[in-house]
Amino acid sequence: MDDLVEILGRERDLPDEGLRALLTDPDTTEPLAVAARQVSRAIFGGRVWLRALIEWSNVCRNDCLYCGIRRSNGRIRRYSLSREEILSCCERAWATGLRTFVLQGGENPAAALRLADTVAAIRSAWPEAAITLSLGELPRETLRLLREAGADRYLLRHETATPAHYASLHPAEMRLQTRLDCLQDLRDLGFQTGMGMMVGSPGQTAEHLIADIRLMQAFRPEMIGIGPFIPQRDTPFADRAPGSAETTLRLYSILRLIFPSANIPSTTALSTLLPGGRIAGLRAGANVIMPNFTPAPYREAYTLYDGKNAPRVESAVQIHNLLKDLSAAGFEVTSSRGDYKRYV
Ligand code: SAH
Repeated sequence: MDDLVEILGRERDLPDEGLRALLTDPDTTEPLAVAARQVSRAIFGGRVWLRALIEWSNVCRNDCLYCGIRRSNGRIRRYSLSREEILSCCERAWATGLRTFVLQGGENPAAALRLADTVAAIRSAWPEAAITLSLGELPRETLRLLREAGADRYLLRHETATPAHYASLHPAEMRLQTRLDCLQDLRDLGFQTGMGMMVGSPGQTAEHLIADIRLMQAFRPEMIGIGPFIPQRDTPFADRAPGSAETTLRLYSILRLIFPSANIPSTTALSTLLPGGRIAGLRAGANVIMPNFTPAPYREAYTLYDGKNAPRVESAVQIHNLLKDLSAAGFEVTSSRGDYKRYV
């Protein structure tokens, strides 16, 4: 196994059977993490970027079978933050030293179009901050307006690269190809573009994960968002088993070795499943953490999966503790924007 890790580190690729072995063998978790950490250190110098996550709305037109804010979930209170509320989240994040604001929400094209004004307001109030959006699939024209308003980056996980698996996770009207076309639009419009998938989503096999890696090798995303699937009680997948934290960690490492300079967050879903997961993710090769800056009254309504918000509300005290934990683990938090830089 150590040979495979070494070859992956050197070639930044492996044939399918090598990837399969690394993905499925628990004994590889640690050697992979050691190798990935070395690459992260070489590229990022032990630095970690914090991005402020602002969950701006849970109104969604989609009905993804795994997701708690799916439109047919009648048990959550729907909300959208006002422009003033969003700007005050940014204010707090900026004052805390964060230099990227991430606006994430349900898919709602009309609201996304209206959000362009807010993006422009953020852009003019904080010219030096990076603005990331994660608003689902939108028409190219809307994406263009958001880009012109000042957005720099866009996260749109492809969720799974295998069409039949995609169909088992989404309602019939959703198509993998539409999502991929949207990713291409984002790239064409000059967004730093993020893709990714859940680990252990219902029906997922190692072959699906290998197909995900192959798709990302073809697209070369600037950001990669990966987290374990966690069931949400009001969805059709309420009774499914969650994904594995260990496999998620191995994937962080594999992705770091294949995509040395990609921005890879250690995601909230991982830390929900695994105490200390944020730091474990960084130690496996991730370089970004996304503390939650959504105002407290709305957090419990942005319930993508169970357990998400309860113990992990990000008060000022908790940000302070996070900074302490990071420095104790040997990471240095930086106040640069952390844009993607191609690895040479
Ligand atoms: N609506 C936007 C962004 C919000 S959802 C979009 O479609 O991109 C953000 C991500 O949360 C999704 O891409 C999905 O991968 C993840 N997610 C949704 N439900 C989840 C669950 N039950 N467990 C883990 N991750 C989940």
